[in-house]
Amino acid sequence: MNVSLAQKLIKWSKSNYADLPWRRQRSLYTTLVSEIMLQQTTVSTVKPRFLSFIKKFPDISALACASEAEVLKAWEGLGYYSRARRLHFAAKKIDLMDGFPDTFEKLIEIKGIGKYTANAVLAIGMNKRALAIDANIERVLARYLGIYNYKGKCGEEIDKGFSSKKILDIDVNFRDLNESLMDLGRTYCKANKVNCIMCPLKENCLSLKENKELSTPQRLVKKKVIKEDLNILRVIYQRSNKYLFFKRPKGKWLQDQLELPSFIIANSKLKQYPLLKKFSVQELPHIESTITKYKIKNYILNTNSIKLDPKKSVWLSSDDFENHHLSSVTKKILNF
Ligand code: SF4
Repeated sequence: MNVSLAQKLIKWSKSNYADLPWRRQRSLYTTLVSEIMLQQTTVSTVKPRFLSFIKKFPDISALACASEAEVLKAWEGLGYYSRARRLHFAAKKIDLMDGFPDTFEKLIEIKGIGKYTANAVLAIGMNKRALAIDANIERVLARYLGIYNYKGKCGEEIDKGFSSKKILDIDVNFRDLNESLMDLGRTYCKANKVNCIMCPLKENCLSLKENKELSTPQRLVKKKVIKEDLNILRVIYQRSNKYLFFKRPKGKWLQDQLELPSFIIANSKLKQYPLLKKFSVQELPHIESTITKYKIKNYILNTNSIKLDPKKSVWLSSDDFENHHLSSVTKKILNF
């Protein structure tokens, strides 16, 4: 790609997509937050959550000083909570440093910052020559350069070519270039649909010339995952105005999440919750949910007459719910 084509792409991006909140409120901190949020989540989902997150934690010190529960609460709606923990961990490390790390080597040393995020901070946050190869950039460059390979492999080839300066060895603003390639991947050059007529790169796009726009990156066909059925009893246990919750243990499924007392019902090899044998749930109402490979029927029991181990328990009034990180299924059960 030569400079004038890169500038044409950048001009197109700036005239259409400059108004994203993390582009308006640009700093190394907001770049770090937005780039971690945007991994695995769409721009439209991230927009409102980014604004409320930055309002609550306006800088790296504010985030570093927050408790994990506060961070997870502010992350609600974005899913993949391990990202929130990684971001929190990175903020705590950076806050103790003498300024924001400014090389790939220093950034990657921080647990919580991976290769993609390090390159995004360098390119988008600092405008250095770096390429944050996410799915969009991989797809656009694979098609533009005519690299026909599997998803992931195309990215590796692009990364090698970029590091050895065989590709994109041009004098442009790398912040703008990265963002415009991402914009193109979200709009005209999507995984299953292209709009090459509108594309600012159409004149030199190799896969378009060869009529193979949708042939790369190829997807590995995944085995269909058969969901396992799981029946769980969720107990709404109320005393005065307070509800009983338990915190999931560290290192276990859904760690640190507050949950209603929960039991696995009969004949299951699973050990996420205590097993409840010989308990009939036939008469109980239920709601369905899915998580990872499980299709769950959540049976709801309102009682305070069964014996529960009060160790590690947390009592919350309904006014407290919004200050804690509760899963969406727990909220649905409480509103049932
Ligand atoms: S011309 Fe088509 S295939 Fe090539 S980069 Fe543009 S949208 Fe993608």
